[in-house]
Amino acid sequence: MDRNNSEELTDALGRPLKDLRISVTDRCNFRCSYCMPLDKYEWIDRREILTFEEVTRLASLFVKLGVEEIRLTGGEPLLRHNLGSLVRQISRIDGLKDLSLTTNASLLQEQAKGLAEAGLNRINVSLDTINRERFQTMTRRDELDNVLAGLREAAHCGLQPIKLNSVIERGVNDVDIPELVEFARKNDFQIRFIEYMDVGNSNNWVSDRMVSKGEILETISGLFPLEEGSRNDDSAPSVDYRFRDGAGNVGVIASVTEPFCEGCTRTRLTADGKMVLCLFSDKGFDLKQLIRNGATDEELLSTIRSVWSARRDRYSEERLEAMNSGEYQPNSKKKIEMISLGG
Ligand code: SAM
Ligand code: SF4
Ligand code: SF4
Repeated sequence: MDRNNSEELTDALGRPLKDLRISVTDRCNFRCSYCMPLDKYEWIDRREILTFEEVTRLASLFVKLGVEEIRLTGGEPLLRHNLGSLVRQISRIDGLKDLSLTTNASLLQEQAKGLAEAGLNRINVSLDTINRERFQTMTRRDELDNVLAGLREAAHCGLQPIKLNSVIERGVNDVDIPELVEFARKNDFQIRFIEYMDVGNSNNWVSDRMVSKGEILETISGLFPLEEGSRNDDSAPSVDYRFRDGAGNVGVIASVTEPFCEGCTRTRLTADGKMVLCLFSDKGFDLKQLIRNGATDEELLSTIRSVWSARRDRYSEERLEAMNSGEYQPNSKKKIEMISLGG
């Protein structure tokens, strides 16, 4: 999967296209307060969902244009029937360097082995607390035991390194930061804390509920002394800190207080085939329609090139500027919901 025969395509701000997040379904079995809090959503009609052949075709075209890393996500990707078959097809794409998955892990125990055998390299698991009651409050599901079993099975199947993603919401799970860090250190998981973001419109985000990177680091370093590491590369959103006692590291993704749009090399493909240029976009470019109207690979490549070349998105930097001048109104802009975009 790692012969390199791709071109380098840059957007209007000079950013190359390097990674692709593919949402394989907009459905989810959780209702996390910060992501998908409502009971009812207007789900994408099943006929509009890309088939595995369509996803693989688009993925290989993106790789031709420079994409090196692909992450499967959702909604909850493990709800997509026979996901291993898609993993197998994508993992065979020439030039692709890394194939990973982001999941809530509730269905991972039964699927980890098959996914590892199909060619998945690694996983990120979203886990915001290991307190059963708070887990239930945050996700509206009593699934903590299944998630923990899924994590154990993934480690057993060699889906390493396992990264944990924890979104911290003030007054909800900020008390869990120490326990999450200890849990990660003890089990050799890499944990990354994520500043709560104003993605979509349904979570009614207000900046007071966001716990900043500074606050998160203060809490952690009070317990485990840290020293700053670095970003793995310029486009990686997480800044890593090493535990001084040598027990691994912890990352923080500070999209609100320290935006990293300048190095953002990521595009997203929704489950119904829209190419989306930014997590905070209100629309995407419909590649599925082109495919189903019989477009050739050359036509698709040329469309993707022109969509990416025109990209000027830098929402998080603009939000910080607006927040600093007191002008930011979180719900003044319509945004695609996170479940369609896949984080
Ligand atoms: N269901 C899978 C999961 O939870 O890992 C994959 C999809 S989920 C949308 C992808 C990532 O987005 C998760 O790590 C989740 O924590 C993150 N996320 C969702 N809403 C968020 C928000 N408002 N702020 C920050 N991160 C968010
Ligand atoms: Fe579902 Fe993941 Fe969103 Fe939680 S964060 S509601 S698990 S898609
Ligand atoms: Fe990339 Fe948009 Fe996030 Fe900026 S706000 S880092 S452009 S996804």
